Amino acid sequence: MMAETCGEPVHNRRLIRASGAIDAAGVSAAPAVLLIEDGQLRVVGTPSEVGAVPDAVVEDHRGSLIMPGLVNVHAHLDLSGQGLWPPAGDDFRGWVGQVRQLRADSTPEDIKKAVCRGIQLSLAGGTTCIGDIAGYPPAASIEALRASSLRGTSFIECFGTGSGQSAAIDRMHQLLAGWAADSHGIRVGISPHAPYSCGPELFAAAAATGRPVMTHLAETLDEAELLQHGTGPLRSMLEHDIGVWDASTSIAGMHPVEYAIGPLGQCSGVATHLNWIEPRHIAMLAETTISVAYCPRASTAFGHGPPTLALHPWQELRAAGVPIGLGTDSLLCLDTPDRISVLDEMRLLATRDSIDPMTLLEMATIDGARVLDLEPSLVHLGPAAAGLIACPALVGDPLAMLQDVLGRTEPPSWIMHPAAPTTTTTVPNT
Ligand SMILES: [Zn+2]
Repeated sequence: MMAETCGEPVHNRRLIRASGAIDAAGVSAAPAVLLIEDGQLRVVGTPSEVGAVPDAVVEDHRGSLIMPGLVNVHAHLDLSGQGLWPPAGDDFRGWVGQVRQLRADSTPEDIKKAVCRGIQLSLAGGTTCIGDIAGYPPAASIEALRASSLRGTSFIECFGTGSGQSAAIDRMHQLLAGWAADSHGIRVGISPHAPYSCGPELFAAAAATGRPVMTHLAETLDEAELLQHGTGPLRSMLEHDIGVWDASTSIAGMHPVEYAIGPLGQCSGVATHLNWIEPRHIAMLAETTISVAYCPRASTAFGHGPPTLALHPWQELRAAGVPIGLGTDSLLCLDTPDRISVLDEMRLLATRDSIDPMTLLEMATIDGARVLDLEPSLVHLGPAAAGLIACPALVGDPLAMLQDVLGRTEPPSWIMHPAAPTTTTTVPNT
C-alpha cells in the first residue's frame, strides 16, 4: 500500500528499512519498509509497495527481521529477584520447599523489586503481553504491571484443600474485590495453584468469579499419583512439609485433567504445563473452551516433562484445535539471565524438535493472545501492534530469516517499544 505524504516535514514519522518483516497474520516482506507515525505502525511492505516518504526520518535496520512483540502466557515475575537456580531434577518437593522459604523470607519491598526486575527482563525479551501469576500478597505484582507498558492478566494465586477451602474462598473474594477487573491494560484474574493444592470447592468458586482463571495442571507424575491414589511425594509434602493434609482432605480418585476439566471448562480457563496427560484427554480437552500454556524450558529444567520435548502432547492438542501459547514459567528455571522471553522457548522447540518456524511464531503471538483473551491485532504487523521487535538474521526470504533467528541466541531489540496502556476500568468488580 502507498504511504501518504504531505508538504510539511513531519518528524514523528519513522521509516524503518529492514531486511525482512513477518507476522503470523499474513505479512511477509523482504526487504521490508515500515512507516511508524505517532507510535503506531501505519504501513508495512516491500519498498515498492510502500513508496517514497520524503518527510520521514529513515532508520537503517538492514540485517534484521522485524516481528510483532511477543506474548508470554505464563510467568512468575515475583520470582525474578534471585537470578537462576540449579535444575530441580527429581526433587520437586525440595524445590517447592525452597520457593516457599524464599517467599516467607521476602518483604513486600523485596517482592516489588523482583516484579519490577521481571518486567524489565520481559521487556528485554521483546514481550508486549503477559499472563503473570501473582503470589501472596499480590499488590506488588498488580501495581507494577499496571504501571508498566505490558498488557495481559495478573492471576492472583490461591491455595486451599479440605477444610481450609472455605477460608481460602473468602480470602480469594476479598482479594479480588480490592482490584478493578481491568485497568491500564492488565486484568486481574485468579489462579487456583494446582489440583493437588486446591480442593474442588475452591476450583468451583474460582470458576464462578467471572474472572480469568489459570491453573497448573498435570505438571508431574507425582501429581497424577496424588490425585488418583492419595499417595507419593506430594502427599508427603502436603502432609509433613506444609501441614495442610488432614482427615478433611479427600482423594479425588481421578487424573488431574478429569479433576479440573469441569470448572476450567466452565470459565474458559487456562491449563499450564499438561506434561503428563493420557491420549484420551486430548479429545476431552478439545471439546471444551480450555486453552493451554506450554513452558518448554521449565518442563526441561524441572525434569518433569516426558523424556524429550517432542513427546509432550502439545502438538496433538494443537492439532485437535486446543489453543496453545508459550510461557516461560519463572526466571529461576530459565537459562537466559538477561531476559524473560518466549523467543527462547521458540528457539528450544525449533532447534531441538525441528518445529517449523511459522507454527512457533503463531504460538508466540496470535495463539498466545487467544489464550489470554487479548485482541489478536495487538500482535499483528498492523496499526494496533502493541510493539515491534528486530532480530538479527541472515538475509533471505522472511521465513528463512525467521528460521535463522531461531537458530541464534541474541536478544531482540525494540523498533517500537510498547506504550503504557491508559485504559480505565471497563468491567465492574465482582
Ligand atoms: Zn508456573
